[in-house]
Amino acid sequence: MKRIVAPCLSACLVLLASSRLAAQAKRVEYDISYPNAAQHQARVVATFIGVPNGSTLHVRMSRSSPGRYTPTTFAKNVYDVTATDGRGRPLGLSRPDSHGWDVAGHDGTVRIQYTVWGDRIDGTYLSIDHTHAHMNMPATFMWAHGMEDAPIRLTVHPQPGWRVATQLAPTSDSTVFTAPNLQWFMDSPTEVGPVTWRSWTATQSGKPSTWRLAVHHLGTEAQVDTFATMAKTVVAEEVAMWGEPPGYDFGTYTFIADYVPWASGDAMEHRNSTFLSSRTSLATAAGRMSNLESLTHEFFHSWSMERLRSKQIEPFDFDREDMSDALWFGEGFTNYYADLLLRRSGFYTDDQYIPQLAGPIIATINTAARQHGTPVDMSRDAVFFDGGTYLDATNRQNVFWSYYTWGSVIAAGLDLTLRSRYHTTLDDYMRMLWRDYGHYQSKALAPERPYTVADLEAELAKLTNDSAFASDFFRRYVHGREVPDFRNLLAPAGFSFITDSVVHPSLGASLDNDPKGVLVNWSSATGSAYSAGLSSGDIVLAINGAATPSIDSLSAILASHKVGETLQVDLLEKGQVRATIPMTLKGIAAMRVVTFESAGLPVTDEIRAFRRDWLGSKVTR
Ligand SMILES: [Zn+2]
Repeated sequence: MKRIVAPCLSACLVLLASSRLAAQAKRVEYDISYPNAAQHQARVVATFIGVPNGSTLHVRMSRSSPGRYTPTTFAKNVYDVTATDGRGRPLGLSRPDSHGWDVAGHDGTVRIQYTVWGDRIDGTYLSIDHTHAHMNMPATFMWAHGMEDAPIRLTVHPQPGWRVATQLAPTSDSTVFTAPNLQWFMDSPTEVGPVTWRSWTATQSGKPSTWRLAVHHLGTEAQVDTFATMAKTVVAEEVAMWGEPPGYDFGTYTFIADYVPWASGDAMEHRNSTFLSSRTSLATAAGRMSNLESLTHEFFHSWSMERLRSKQIEPFDFDREDMSDALWFGEGFTNYYADLLLRRSGFYTDDQYIPQLAGPIIATINTAARQHGTPVDMSRDAVFFDGGTYLDATNRQNVFWSYYTWGSVIAAGLDLTLRSRYHTTLDDYMRMLWRDYGHYQSKALAPERPYTVADLEAELAKLTNDSAFASDFFRRYVHGREVPDFRNLLAPAGFSFITDSVVHPSLGASLDNDPKGVLVNWSSATGSAYSAGLSSGDIVLAINGAATPSIDSLSAILASHKVGETLQVDLLEKGQVRATIPMTLKGIAAMRVVTFESAGLPVTDEIRAFRRDWLGSKVTR
């Protein structure tokens, strides 16, 4: 606040008194209707009340969306924008930039009306059609600088048969909802459609929590019943692992699911809800399982990411992309736990769990991208690769390695290390973080303490009482590019990590059949094709004089040779220049993880106890 020295005290006091009388408390009201849902349109009235007199109101469409890290361009789908003041008088609009509208000359109230268009069902965008409106708030609603802390009221005008599913606070009117501020509103995706509801309540330490499942799908009530029972089992397992439910702001957590054939597969975490979208229906056991996997992952976020949260994304900035150094933890550890919790709740057997665990480990050992960055670097790159699409090509396949995958490998390595060396577990680490940084303080919107990567290391030192270990672990696996030694780490669990001694040659490239030969989409920096100079767009015509009209024929030729041999490759470069180049064959040793049982090794009582403690249910029944 700036101190102003007044030249005339009495006149200023009069002015101050009258402006105080005129000023209204800041609040924002949104009204949304769907007069042309078939054409993917909604009409929005956004009213900003209590705007300081004489000020210019800067109205915005967001450049980002909670949980998505690439910059967004929602303003491109907004048009027919008009503004009036509190008395309905038209106001001029100017455009300071492509994502904003400036309004001056108002009377303290600015009412903006616009049409917004959307046709993508996922965790970021807006979708409206004749069956429903699937609204991610940043894609749908304009907001204004200076009004971020104002309370918000949303009135929805549903089509006949549509109901509203949202984490927004309900009112006595089933179409009117409130939010305490903009951060909360933006974090509250809302489905307006023919949703089917299920709910259940559990009380822990005298505090009840309610979980609701709201499904928009084309299937039966019985399918929703079965799926709700599965969700309930997973929820109980997650609560048991963390020791307590997160403590939802209004006592309720809502799973909002769009399982319709025209959805894009996605899932997005929010503070008291998640938006789940999938083309896979609940009609088959495999479909229910696939949808349960993303539900399990997102629900874990109601602790880690939503309350236990990286400092760099708290609060979320809606004017630019939000970068975090810790997505290897926020997303990667969540990935590790989603599979582990499905094993613990009995949805996977050991034999089904092992590939879930081993796949990321083997892929991370083999990726060329580790040469180009650490898990922290990859977390930062989420602003480019988390749903980003570009006209120009990127070298993403060779330089970016998913923080989901890599982070889950760090989590597995840490869990197994803690279990075998420190008689403690990753569960204990997560619960310690929850107590120190995430614990809900029982008042609405409690300020949890956001963490830095250094805090995560300090907590590991505290848990193990071994700061040398914590520092070494973070140096090698978080700030470094090493992969933990799973050969030794998996043995106490009775799992063998096997590397084949015979290495078969491979091209190390992503290929497609082409009318002229075999098309190279991209080549891995560790592969034979890359070293020989084969690049995206090249077409392999023949190897050692034998034609390669298909991927199968090419694979058959490679299989008849050995690693280290040099072959002559005929190719079309850029579709026209014919060249013959030498290619020396490389290969990657196949790796897999198997149980001691299938490897014919003895399984001791110690191994059984280790597995029980790691993979067994934590729910006390
Ligand atoms: Zn996630």
